[in-house]
Amino acid sequence: MGPPGAGKGTQAKFIAEHFKIPAISTGDIFRANVSKGTPLGVEAKRFMDAGEYVPDEVTNLMVRDRIDEPDAVSGFLLDGYPRTLSQVEELDGMIKFTGHELDAVLVLTVDQDEIVERLLQRAQVEGRTDDTEDVIRRRQEVYSEETEPLIEIYRDRGILIEIDGMGEVDEVTQRVFDALDVIPES
Ligand code: ADP
Repeated sequence: MGPPGAGKGTQAKFIAEHFKIPAISTGDIFRANVSKGTPLGVEAKRFMDAGEYVPDEVTNLMVRDRIDEPDAVSGFLLDGYPRTLSQVEELDGMIKFTGHELDAVLVLTVDQDEIVERLLQRAQVEGRTDDTEDVIRRRQEVYSEETEPLIEIYRDRGILIEIDGMGEVDEVTQRVFDALDVIPES
């Protein structure tokens, strides 16, 4: 977890490699569907371009299908999910059903102002249509309203790990590994 631009996707790739598990990024799956012009992509694009969350029913079904794939059988990392209370509940159900356990919930903490800069830069490199200043601000608002409160749920469960997301990418990766490597596998 972490606000837009915190570096979730970047760190997710390193964590996935390190633990030899797939990184499942809801944002990436939506973007892949948008590029291919699938019905899911057409539906998701309207919300993404406005900085709003894609409706829970759509997102939940998509994640449910993805974690059913053979490569996720022995574990997975979710990047960008859950982001709403309904998604937290849905994930609990999915995990119970498959016999998995949530080992850790990682939050990347960052400075909001620096993030707007990072995202505007990313817009130039990657051409993401949701990286305009207005949409970035809306995404930050939606994160604060809908997702930030969920952090307390995982803190109460004792599986929350907060990592300082500022600094060089490899410094952040090292902090993440230091925190995750000491957690016993479920
Ligand atoms: P960021 O976190 O930097 O905004 P993501 O690539 O994770 O970027 O997500 C991009 C967009 O995809 C979000 O703004 C939202 O519209 C949609 N999205 C991604 N994950 C979810 C989710 N779990 N629930 C609803 N919408 C999502």
